Amino acid sequence: MRPEKNRLTAKTLDGAQIAATIKDELKQEILRLKSCGVTPGLAAVLVGRNPASEIYVRNKVKACEALGLYSEKIELAASTSSAELLDVIRQLNARDTIDGILVQLPLPPQIDVKKVLLAVDPLKDVDGFHPVNVGNMVSGRPGMVPCTPAGIIQILERSQVPIAGCRAVVIGRSDTVGKPLALLLLHRNATITICHSRTRDLPSVAREADILVAAIGKPALVTGDFIKPGAVVIDVGINRLTQPEEVRAVFHDVDSALAQLRAKGSVLVGDVQPEDVREQAGAYTPVPGGVGPLTIAMLMVNTVRAARERRGTALHP
Ligand code: NAP
Repeated sequence: MRPEKNRLTAKTLDGAQIAATIKDELKQEILRLKSCGVTPGLAAVLVGRNPASEIYVRNKVKACEALGLYSEKIELAASTSSAELLDVIRQLNARDTIDGILVQLPLPPQIDVKKVLLAVDPLKDVDGFHPVNVGNMVSGRPGMVPCTPAGIIQILERSQVPIAGCRAVVIGRSDTVGKPLALLLLHRNATITICHSRTRDLPSVAREADILVAAIGKPALVTGDFIKPGAVVIDVGINRLTQPEEVRAVFHDVDSALAQLRAKGSVLVGDVQPEDVREQAGAYTPVPGGVGPLTIAMLMVNTVRAARERRGTALHP
C-alpha cells in the first residue's frame, strides 16, 4: 500500500561520491607502495560469457587502471572444468606480481565453486570468500572482508548513520552479501534480524528496522509497507528490466520509466521500489549509484591491503 502523501524527503546516500573519496584516500597509499617498488596487482578471472559478469569485471579492471594498479583479466571458456580453473588459480597464487585474485561469480554449473574459493591463497583472497577469511570475520579477527558488505558499512559510517543499538533487518542470507553484512552490523552492536525466502510476514519484520538492507535480487520487492518512516534503506539489488510489462509492474511513474526503456534498451532497478523509498525513508542508497560503486572501491582497498600485508611488516608505515 502506498502512502497518500508525496513528500519525497529522503536523503540520498551518494555511493558514487563516497567511493570516489575512498579511492582518493587510497592514492597516497599506492604512491607509498610504489616508492617501495611495489605495484599492487589484481587478477580477475572470468569463466564464460555472462553479460553482467563481463561488465563487472570490465569495471573492476578500469578502476585498477585509474588508480595505477596492475591488473590482468583472465577469460576462460564456459566449458572450463574445475580442474582447469584450479590450475589457473594455483598459478596466480604462485605469482609475486599478483596480490589479489578474484573469481567472478556465478561460475558455470560444472564447476565446484566451494573447491575453487578454497584454492585461492587467503592472503590474496580480495573477495573475502575463503573459509579462513570468513572465520576471521565471524570471530572479529583481522582479515579480508567481502567488498559489498564492507562498502555498505562505509556508506553508513561515512554518512554518520548510527549503528550501535539500532535495529537492523537484512533481507537476503547469501554468503557473499546478506550473511557477512549481518555479522559486520552485529560486530558494530546493532540488533540483527536476517530474513530470507521463508520468512513469514516479511513486511512487518522489515518495518521494525532502523536500518533496512535489501539483498534479494528481486526487482522492487521492498515497497513502502516494508519501510518504517525515517528508516535508512540500503538497496543492494541490481536488476535489469528489458520488457515494458516488467517496467509497468515496478514503477509508479510508468511513462518516464518506459521512456528510459525506449532510450536505453533497459532500466536498472534495485530490490527496493524507488519511488516508495523516497517517500518513506529517512535516507536511502539509489540504484544505480549507491552500493555498486562501493563494491569496486573496497576491492581496490583490499588489493592494496593484500599487497602490503603479503609482504609482512616491511611495508607498514
Ligand atoms: P542470492 O545469492 O541470490 O541471495 C538472495 C537472497 O534473497 C537469498 O537469501 C534468498 O532467500 C532471498 N530471497 C529471495 N527471494 C526472496 C523473497 N521473496 N523474500 C525474501 N527473501 C528472498 O543473491 P546475492 O548474491 O546476495 O545478491 C542479491 C542482489 O544483490 C542481486 O540483485 C545482486 O545482483 C545484487 N548484488 C549487488 C552488488 C553490488 O555491488 N551492488 C553486489 C553483489 C550482489 P533463500 O536463502 O531462502 O533462498
